[in-house]
Amino acid sequence: MLGALALAAAGCALHRNPAPTGDAGEIVRDQLVIHSDFNLPRHHRLLEELTAQRGDITRLLALPVSDEPIHVYLFESPLVYESFIQKRFPQLPKRRAFFVETDTSLSVYAHWGDRMAEDLRHEVAHGYLHAVVPNLPLWLDEGLAEYFEVPRGWRGLNQPHVEMLVDELRRGQWTPDLARLEQFQSAADMTQRDYAESWAWTHMLLETTTPRRELLTNYLARLRTEGSAPPMSHVVGATEASLGQSLTAHLMVLSSRAPRGLPE
Ligand SMILES: [Zn+2]
Repeated sequence: MLGALALAAAGCALHRNPAPTGDAGEIVRDQLVIHSDFNLPRHHRLLEELTAQRGDITRLLALPVSDEPIHVYLFESPLVYESFIQKRFPQLPKRRAFFVETDTSLSVYAHWGDRMAEDLRHEVAHGYLHAVVPNLPLWLDEGLAEYFEVPRGWRGLNQPHVEMLVDELRRGQWTPDLARLEQFQSAADMTQRDYAESWAWTHMLLETTTPRRELLTNYLARLRTEGSAPPMSHVVGATEASLGQSLTAHLMVLSSRAPRGLPE
């Protein structure tokens, strides 16, 4: 279902009846129910950050708060994690973390490691979003998760994505195309550049002008009330003549502003 994504990308999947791992401890923080097979400090700053992310998402996107639990399963050992995943989800490719949605549950699986904070911010963001917005288009689901995977206070600035897209623009290897992104039905088919472009459209909508942000928040509200919405390229295309040029200009501004080597 997921196909071959680069290991750096987190991913999502739909499965039924995932079984939890053995718990060394369970920590409940608002919507989050964190299960770990090791002794995770109850006030670890990553848990504080993940808990606060719910407020960040609901405020920025004008969404209501849900009380549906998001189960987060953390493994200390990558080997134990991989063994568990292979047994429960044998069809999945090797990856560091992922989000699983069923009809009745929202779950995140990850192992402890250098990229864990980024991975968990990404996957837990999917959980918060799926708890309140049905039928999110895949590109927007991933664009928002990529926006929220950077540390709090960065306003969603995903610097590696800026550098990749600007580099490919300058070499003439890529041009923005939101309608193309909207065709994706499976994360398996999305490349790292597709993730980056999804992020870029999302970042432009959220971080440039109030009308653009309202266009996105209204879009999410429509998904909530009606269960579906027309393609975003049609919606935003009705207000802006040249979408590709708008995104290119936004990326150039970010590239000229963004300092290199921001601390994680
Ligand atoms: Zn994702």
